[in-house]
Amino acid sequence: MNSQRVVISGGRVIDPAQGVDRLADVLMERGRVVEVTPSPLSKFPEGYRILDATGLVVCPGFIDLHTHLRDPGEEHKETIASGTRAAARGGFTTICAMPNTEPAMDTGETVLDVLRRSQSASARVLPIGAVTVGRRGRSLAPMEELAEAGCIGFSDDGDPVSDDGLMQQALERAGGLGLPIINHAETRSMVRGAVMNQGPVATRLGLQGVSRDAESKMIARDVYLARKTGARLHAPHLSARESVEHVGRAKDDGLDVTAEVTPHHLTLTDTWVYGLHGKVPEPGQRAVYDTNTRVNPPLRSEADRMAVVEALRDGVIDVIATDHAPHASADKACRYEDAANGINNLETAFGSLCSLVQDGLISLPLLVERLTAAPARVLRRELGSLRRGWPADLTLLDPNAEWVVDPLHFASLSRNTPLAGVRLRGRVAATLLNGRIVHDVRRELKSPQACRALS
Ligand SMILES: [Zn+2]
Repeated sequence: MNSQRVVISGGRVIDPAQGVDRLADVLMERGRVVEVTPSPLSKFPEGYRILDATGLVVCPGFIDLHTHLRDPGEEHKETIASGTRAAARGGFTTICAMPNTEPAMDTGETVLDVLRRSQSASARVLPIGAVTVGRRGRSLAPMEELAEAGCIGFSDDGDPVSDDGLMQQALERAGGLGLPIINHAETRSMVRGAVMNQGPVATRLGLQGVSRDAESKMIARDVYLARKTGARLHAPHLSARESVEHVGRAKDDGLDVTAEVTPHHLTLTDTWVYGLHGKVPEPGQRAVYDTNTRVNPPLRSEADRMAVVEALRDGVIDVIATDHAPHASADKACRYEDAANGINNLETAFGSLCSLVQDGLISLPLLVERLTAAPARVLRRELGSLRRGWPADLTLLDPNAEWVVDPLHFASLSRNTPLAGVRLRGRVAATLLNGRIVHDVRRELKSPQACRALS
């Protein structure tokens, strides 16, 4: 339906970049937005196919600045095809692919290969290039070549750029290209075999805990170097109160620093490690763990969670990014110490984030802003808004639809979520990429009554 004229009618249109929050119709043609009407039309212009969005929220497609696609190299965990299908189901129309693939995306050729293979995918893929050759942290990757090939930033995510001098050079080179460095913030010498957050849960489970300082110290260094170079720094997956403070001060001082937070750091704490959906086992009851909660940075305390929620609300943290990190069952069916880091996030992100709205911690329009306009600002691309002539990337939301997370039904090839069996309120009803329907919940539920999505 790419070339067709389509109108999405009767929905509550939330487009934070344009300050729109009203009942309206969205007209599209040839994959581009034509108009968001001032109010719902009483009569549709001729030649338009009508999609009924009554009762739904219509917003720009979500943008994920932090996705691990595992392709090339670990296609049993995720491929470009499966990962972008998962994105579409989660309402994401643009995802930024981290370069910790095999081989790493550290040459123009590997980047162009990913772009070529994602051309007909269910979401737009924007690659992130490696900072260093092979992500080994020793010498800089050919950053100009990577930028030329289409990279939107640089990261060795999964591993930090530990060497101070190299990080400074990386910022200078990336700064010259107008692109951010996204440095996995972890001071490795402070981690020393730790596998979860330091605190009472780690003590009770007999697991090695890591202090928040391992993250905050690296953020402090990166902010220092961003100040020195004037270059762009994007801090990924903030989880700790002190990290938020460093970013807040950098912003107050006018540095070009942005930050993101994941759905799990916004909604879960380290008590989830017990595998009881956040409940703490009774004293005397045997405590066990769920390896699906192992993630880096780790799930933190309630105080840290509230610090990142507040920072997201106040704009100190700009963006929600999923850090979608699919892993095979074998990588999680083991001791906590041996489990791979990462949570499968794309398909549950919106549903779990809606709990913040239901708890009165953030408004729905602001949540949408942090998933659309805010990441688009970091990308500096014409995305994340329903402006005339921009790509018709739209997500239709049913904020009140309840559903139970069943990883067996994921489009992702991996199932590693601590949310299995959790009831969520808030669901993505449909997703359009360049005006084309890439997800429609009705087709998957096979029950037209289950959701008032497209007709
Ligand atoms: Zn990371």
